[in-house]
Amino acid sequence: MSAAKRTAYDKYLALLEKSASILNLDPVIYQRLQIPELLVRGEVTIEMDDGSFKSFKVFRCQHNHARGPTQGGTRFDLAVCESEVKFLAAMMSMKNTIVDIRHGGGKGGICVDKFALSMKERERLCRGYIRVIAPYIGPRVDGPAPDVNTGGAEMAWFLDEYERMIGEHAPAQFTGKPLVLGGSLGRGDATALGAVYASEEMIKKLQMRGPQTIAIQGFGNAGDFYAKLMSERGHKIVSVSDRSGVIYKKAGFEYADLHAFCYDTKGTKVRKVSDYPHKDNLTSEEAELLSLKADIFAPAAFEDKIDAEMARKITSKFIVELANGPCTEEADEILSARGVEVIPDFYASGGGVRVSSAEKVQGLENQKWPAKRVAEWLESRMREAFHDLDKVREQYKLKSFREAGIVYAVREIAEAMTWRGGFEYPYGKTIDVPTVTVYKDLNRGFYKLEQ
Ligand code: GLU
Repeated sequence: MSAAKRTAYDKYLALLEKSASILNLDPVIYQRLQIPELLVRGEVTIEMDDGSFKSFKVFRCQHNHARGPTQGGTRFDLAVCESEVKFLAAMMSMKNTIVDIRHGGGKGGICVDKFALSMKERERLCRGYIRVIAPYIGPRVDGPAPDVNTGGAEMAWFLDEYERMIGEHAPAQFTGKPLVLGGSLGRGDATALGAVYASEEMIKKLQMRGPQTIAIQGFGNAGDFYAKLMSERGHKIVSVSDRSGVIYKKAGFEYADLHAFCYDTKGTKVRKVSDYPHKDNLTSEEAELLSLKADIFAPAAFEDKIDAEMARKITSKFIVELANGPCTEEADEILSARGVEVIPDFYASGGGVRVSSAEKVQGLENQKWPAKRVAEWLESRMREAFHDLDKVREQYKLKSFREAGIVYAVREIAEAMTWRGGFEYPYGKTIDVPTVTVYKDLNRGFYKLEQ
């Protein structure tokens, strides 16, 4: 009998089960944490530029509200499905607890290849998404933000549609907005900067001295910023990769030159790293093998990029997960058995949402914080969280920061749930929203939300 394929959500359930037994979790709380508090499923049909119609599956999941309104990104990707959105929402509950913001975890997504759509089609899709989820969100209920393949443009369309629907300004509803629409200073590089602080704390813990060599897997936004910030701090970027392959330079890349080669002035990636000329003369396979020996290995690409085989070869002192779920479960076991430390995704990449919470506060107060205030807000917690997790690891004799992170977060969430009580109320709801159609004439099908 072939085992059923493990879904993304199974990964979360396995981590939860482990922490439930370590914490001796109340069975009712354990049961509740296994399901999301709310899952909204729908379909958006848009009129394409050529007059035809196309439909897309859309989701928004609110994992748990005990610590505050849910918060988390919106992913546009062909891999988006119910299980993935539920998994990512649950992991946001962990992340938001670890970075100590008063939020539960949420996540949304649309199963779409947005690059196959024109700008106008993308805009209609975003407006349709808001028409589906608007009744279930709110600045004090649930806040969507950017995630894979979404950014300022999507947030601007979300905001505009939502404000038209409710008939008032609501800058606190979405984060990751363009600055002129109430975005926060420092949001752009917050994820990478947060990972830099976490890395610096790990460098101290492991007593690594002097400049470190760094390999970055994936040279998108987070990987690029991380390379910039770490090279500014005197570390040596010896390897970077993208879909085109892996490149390596023993002496370390000149960051500014590499960045200028791969990115245009608007920050769009225009060239493949494999075409970069100033590198050591190696095949991609040779370069990859050497990258696994860098002091710090920073996966910043996609899920499950580090498998068991790779995990057996990595001799880095630590891995800092800028991507979501870059290690398979098997790889994770191997790494911890081999003593390779991992700064887990839900902490390492928590800088983005930490600044999202600052953006939300600015939105609620209609204020703009100076960059310094945002930076302090980010740095203080990213450093402190490392020590909180280290303490929990020590206290429960856990073998990794990943286990420590989950145990820390579940303990906090469970405490919030215990204070609230109300376990006689039903928990866990799935809502199927009828198809929403967005026409070129935006007014057709538009409706005003009763507030
Ligand atoms: N999508 C990012 C994350 O996974 C940011 C979420 C947010 O800013 O709410 O952490």
